[in-house]
Amino acid sequence: MIDLHSHSSFSDGSESPERVVELAAAAGCTAVALTDHDTTEGLPRATVRAAELGIAIVPGCEVSCAFSPGAMHVLSYFVSGEPSPFQDELVRLRADRESRNERMAARLAEIGMPITYEEVVEEAGGVGVGRPHFASVLVRKGVVGSIQEAFDAYLAKGTPGYVSKARIEVERVVDLVTRSGGVTVLAHPLSLDLDEEALTRELARLAEIGLTGMECYYGRYDPATRAQLVALAGSLGLVATGGSDFHGTYKPDLSMGTGTGDLEVPSTVVEELAARRPDTPT
Ligand code: AMP
Ligand code: ZN
Ligand code: FE
Ligand code: FE
Repeated sequence: MIDLHSHSSFSDGSESPERVVELAAAAGCTAVALTDHDTTEGLPRATVRAAELGIAIVPGCEVSCAFSPGAMHVLSYFVSGEPSPFQDELVRLRADRESRNERMAARLAEIGMPITYEEVVEEAGGVGVGRPHFASVLVRKGVVGSIQEAFDAYLAKGTPGYVSKARIEVERVVDLVTRSGGVTVLAHPLSLDLDEEALTRELARLAEIGLTGMECYYGRYDPATRAQLVALAGSLGLVATGGSDFHGTYKPDLSMGTGTGDLEVPSTVVEELAARRPDTPT
């Protein structure tokens, strides 16, 4: 088995890159992708630990795209930290994220929350600040009882504390990642918030513009949902991929490799993705 979706403390996971790799190996994974939001900075450390433990590491990253009604997250694979068109874009996305975070802290303070931007940055360990860090501060201050409650009341789209990031068009992500020698995968497709027919149409469109795969084996989807998504991927010529979306204590129900307990992503998925890498990155 493998795990192609995980977050470390370089974004909004609670564990170090080394620890993420150790947990993957302990769960029985033969390959792991670190897919921090907007950054590949955890990759060198994860790579060293993976070599020590004898498991394969796949460079990854997750970015949020412009989409409505739901959320569209796209995973890149095989783009490492070397200079590339996609890395240039990640620099911009991280800058956007920072200004969004500052505005979000100000907004939360305005509506009476006992929270400062400095506290959130500290919670994040100085890098990769995201909404789960805001949530954690609100839990610590006793404003809410859990991370999920913090999202539901203050941080999710449509709630009073929410401030959107500058979103990148999915066409642009596919283009930049392809030109950087990598492949793209739609993460947790149900978060698009589309009914079955609209989801099929949107995925057909994404396949048309060069998306390589969709995440069918997802940490929080039940077996029937996973099977439906695998069938849909097959019918559209997309690689059926998967992973836990591990975030450590920020998503306490998700474990490396096994998700909520019964996840098992086939090892062959890595080769299927690798076979679709563009031949000549320009
Ligand atoms: P950000 O990139 O800062 O916007 O935060 C994204 C993180 O927040 C990801 O880990 C998401 O899974 C998490 N997240 C987004 N919306 C929700 C929600 N409604 N409930 C719980 N977690 C969420
Ligand atoms: Zn996250
Ligand atoms: Fe995501
Ligand atoms: Fe994720």
